[in-house]
Amino acid sequence: MTDAPLLQVENLAVEFRSGGAWHRAVRGVDLAVHRNETLAVVGESGSGKSVTALAAMGLVPKETGRIVEGSRIRLEGRDLVGLSERELDRVRGDRMAMIFQEPMTALNPTMTVGAQVSETLRAHRGLGAEAARREALRVLELVKVPSAARRLADYPHQFSGGMRQRVMIAMALACQPAVLLADEPTTALDVTIQAQVLALLEDLKREYGLAVLFITHNLGVVALIADRVAVMYAGEIVETGTAAALFDSPRHPYTEALLRSMPRVDRDIGALEPIQGNVPSIREIGAGCAFAPRCPHAQDRCRAERPTLADDGAGRGVRCWVRGLA
Ligand code: ADP
Ligand code: MG
Repeated sequence: MTDAPLLQVENLAVEFRSGGAWHRAVRGVDLAVHRNETLAVVGESGSGKSVTALAAMGLVPKETGRIVEGSRIRLEGRDLVGLSERELDRVRGDRMAMIFQEPMTALNPTMTVGAQVSETLRAHRGLGAEAARREALRVLELVKVPSAARRLADYPHQFSGGMRQRVMIAMALACQPAVLLADEPTTALDVTIQAQVLALLEDLKREYGLAVLFITHNLGVVALIADRVAVMYAGEIVETGTAAALFDSPRHPYTEALLRSMPRVDRDIGALEPIQGNVPSIREIGAGCAFAPRCPHAQDRCRAERPTLADDGAGRGVRCWVRGLA
């Protein structure tokens, strides 16, 4: 891929304070998402996926969290780290938008859906009331909300879970962002509705050339939507590559273990093997490889020294002393 990435995260580190000390939840993440590309970020719960996306949106809670100096978050070339809240407000929902697992975190229960989508358009696009209403109708039709004209007057609770998810996607896409961050947006939906929402996101990506950062713990979803994959563990990316490369020839023992632990919609299920042990909390990450305590291949070096990411220069990277790229 030769074009410049629309979103480029470099050396991102995020810390939270607890018990009087700062602990690192994201530890030097690099990733890039290009136009018309879906990068899936995958890993067990607690790996740092959501914190990575929230940091990109400038939404790390100020009282207890901080982005560590030296982190870079470039949106269409412009570094967002250190921007004021006011400047971030202008970017959020405009050039970059985020959708969540629970639509009610994004939707206001006391406002009609039409009013909410219109308000976003009026704030960012400076549209008048009537133009905003027309545009709101257009985006609700775009995300295939049936009888959209009538449903503009409905409140979020009057929509089903799948339809609420479409409304949230409509809100996110209303201002035609370049980058969409999606954090487990289909996890709460049943399988059929999930497939419909994924297909919709795929269509929208292609039609608008969106750069999509798609967070999921579900490898079946990854197989359906990802162009490239970043596997995250304990705040680090431990393996990256095309979806095909990771599924066909995983290198990192964590990627292998994930593949063996999860059902896949795209192939026969062998015996599933749960990964023994737990993702470490941010307070208990030691000096060596964070996966070493759960890793069947771990050696002395793994317990003593943090692995570097070996990179083939063509988008494949592995952070492992034992199974790294030769
Ligand atoms: P994921 O999305 O991969 O499940 P998260 O990014 O939510 O994981 O969390 C990564 C780590 O950061 C976890 O150990 C979590 O407990 C911690 N964490 C996330 N948000 C906060 C917060 N606001 N305060 C303290 N710790 C947090
Ligand atoms: Mg999460």
